[in-house]
Amino acid sequence: MNRRHFLLTAPTVALGAASLPATALAAPAVITSSTQLLPRRGKGPRIVICGGGWGGMTAARYLRELIPDSDVVLLERNPTFWSGPMSNKWLVDIVDTDFLNHDMLHPANKYGYTLVNTNVMGVERDKKIVRTAHGTIDYDYLILSGGIRNAYDAWFGDDVGAAEYTRTHFPNAYEPNSEMLQLKKKFKDFKGGTIVMNLPPPPHRCPPSPYERACLMAWYYKVNNIPAKIIILDPKPMVAPIGEGYRAAFRELYPDIITHVPNATVKEVDPYNKHIKTTAGDFDFDHAVLMPPHQAADMVWQAGLIGTGPDGKPNGWADIDPRFFTANADEDVYVVGDAMGMVSEQFGHYPKSAHVANAIGKIVAKNIAERVEGKDVTPVLPDNLCYMMVNGDPQEEISVEFEYELDPNGMVLQTQIDMDVRTNDLVALDFAWIKGRFDDFLF
Ligand SMILES: Cc1cc2nc3c(=O)[nH]c(=O)nc-3n(C[C@H](O)[C@H](O)[C@H](O)COP(=O)(O)OP(=O)(O)OC[C@H]3O[C@@H](n4cnc5c(N)ncnc54)[C@H](O)[C@@H]3O)c2cc1C
Repeated sequence: MNRRHFLLTAPTVALGAASLPATALAAPAVITSSTQLLPRRGKGPRIVICGGGWGGMTAARYLRELIPDSDVVLLERNPTFWSGPMSNKWLVDIVDTDFLNHDMLHPANKYGYTLVNTNVMGVERDKKIVRTAHGTIDYDYLILSGGIRNAYDAWFGDDVGAAEYTRTHFPNAYEPNSEMLQLKKKFKDFKGGTIVMNLPPPPHRCPPSPYERACLMAWYYKVNNIPAKIIILDPKPMVAPIGEGYRAAFRELYPDIITHVPNATVKEVDPYNKHIKTTAGDFDFDHAVLMPPHQAADMVWQAGLIGTGPDGKPNGWADIDPRFFTANADEDVYVVGDAMGMVSEQFGHYPKSAHVANAIGKIVAKNIAERVEGKDVTPVLPDNLCYMMVNGDPQEEISVEFEYELDPNGMVLQTQIDMDVRTNDLVALDFAWIKGRFDDFLF
């Protein structure tokens, strides 16, 4: 497999490999950021999707189905897909690595979109091009589905050394990549002492999942007789969502291991001396899972589509139309998944979950298909559902469900239903949920 084959994988198209003479595959002598990445294929619209995670891969599948002559190109920097859902269970060996980590070529070939393994480096909306590490690509419609970035600069300013030290020594693995392996290694190497785990300020990726991680880590330490204390530093005044379910788990299952500290906003982190200052006190630690604030992925910033807060400063998230998921500044650019900004005065952001990203990926594909057909776009809203394991043996879970509707003024309203009673019944539903989602865009 030569480099060109590896980088550019198109199922039916010019740069796709086997069907073309070798000369057609030869890379330019020098690849610069202005090298044109791919010729267009077919007469249909070209839709470029930046980010092949839950939202991006879902959109790619449904665009190809709903607009059969579309030229759909998915740009993803990771060579393989890592799932956030189930990754806490993977951390404690309830599922294995093959459960989380998947080949991306199979769905690209199955659904007929072009997958390019590259890093998105810029978006020039005036020219309708995306700049990547391997050249530029033009689009008719653009979908930004890059997920989140860890905003270490909120803690360390320009001190990239401190940020990198923190990321490598105290990884959180909230961005899906090989950091997950580092997190697991550090978790398994831990022989005892105090672990600090902080939650980012809301909104952040998968709000109930840090508590799930704390519970499963505590369960693992308990059954393996590792003398660990886990301190959860939570900027919120109480555990949420599924607060009662989590509080019961902390109290009844892990009373000597987990301490939840509310109103603990991080003020200062000293990763070298393992010390953290918060609004609820200062803490020393032997190990930590450190999470700086979450923000929309770099590509949304590069596209100039970040919203502003009441103070006029960037609020960190994409400024979007809450019903159609287009950028407010550019109706040919859609934002899917966790990068989306505020959608409602009532509840703020949609939960930053894989369930929502998957749902919005489908909705946006439908919206683009309706536009391409010259129809009016009918607004459709997502739902949300998250299962969280709090006990490893017997396996028990709690869950949270959200429903959405539009009020007569067009405002999105949310109803939240917490399932606080931990039960084994939810475990089967959780595994059925993940199978259904993976079947939808991966297998
Ligand atoms: C521990 C944990 C547990 C979770 N549990 C659940 C759960 O039980 N249920 C649930 O619904 N959700 C859960 N989530 C949340 C879920 O993982 C995210 O909400 C979901 O992945 C969001 O999808 P997305 O498409 O927006 O982002 P992602 O899935 O993160 O995809 C973004 C993609 O963009 C790529 N990308 C970013 N920048 C670039 C670039 N410059 N160039 C090229 N590619 C780029 C990334 O590599 C990534 O593949 C969990 C998350 C974590 C971390």
